[in-house]
Amino acid sequence: MNLILFGPPGAGKGTQARYLVKKLDSFQISTGDMLRDEIKKDTEIGKKIITDMNEGKFVNDEIVNKLIENVIFDSQKKNKLIFDGYPRSLSQAKNLDLLLKKSDQKINYIFFLNVNKETIIKRIEKRKILEERRDDVSNTILKRYDTYMQTTKPVLDFYSKNPNFYELDGSLEIEQITLKIDDIINV
Ligand code: AMP
Repeated sequence: MNLILFGPPGAGKGTQARYLVKKLDSFQISTGDMLRDEIKKDTEIGKKIITDMNEGKFVNDEIVNKLIENVIFDSQKKNKLIFDGYPRSLSQAKNLDLLLKKSDQKINYIFFLNVNKETIIKRIEKRKILEERRDDVSNTILKRYDTYMQTTKPVLDFYSKNPNFYELDGSLEIEQITLKIDDIINV
């Protein structure tokens, strides 16, 4: 089973992804984590993206799409993909469609964790303290939210027509969201 968890930063995608990885014996595909890893390892990609990441801007589609391609054609991960933070633009969504077709896979469920700005700000502030994330400095929080909303609206329109698209209230408690997801995937 392949799933997409979709929603603004701080909506709880990562938390639900980690739960689903265990439950479904799958892999969390977090482009945010993959990109942070490139920076940590100081790779060529890492050098290119550090400024955008620290400013809360989106990383170039081409770079992100290339990282995703490697994952999709990894036979160990076939049909065990939990996307967290990808796709985030229409170009990424179309690229994902293409790669899935090429690798004879599909997305079984798309979950949109919808949550308002005030809740997001509170959650990201909390996470900043817990995880000491460099890109989460206060003045980038709103920037990240706004960038997400602007660039991601077309992705929402793209997926919301899909019969497997589910919008969930991301301001609910973690456990309540998990229960709703469990109910829908029914495994
Ligand atoms: P996240 O951990 O998902 O909140 O992502 C942290 C940062 O990584 C974002 O603010 C972007 O700079 C970058 N990023 C993560 N995923 C993507 C993506 N799919 N496309 C472009 N940039 C991304």
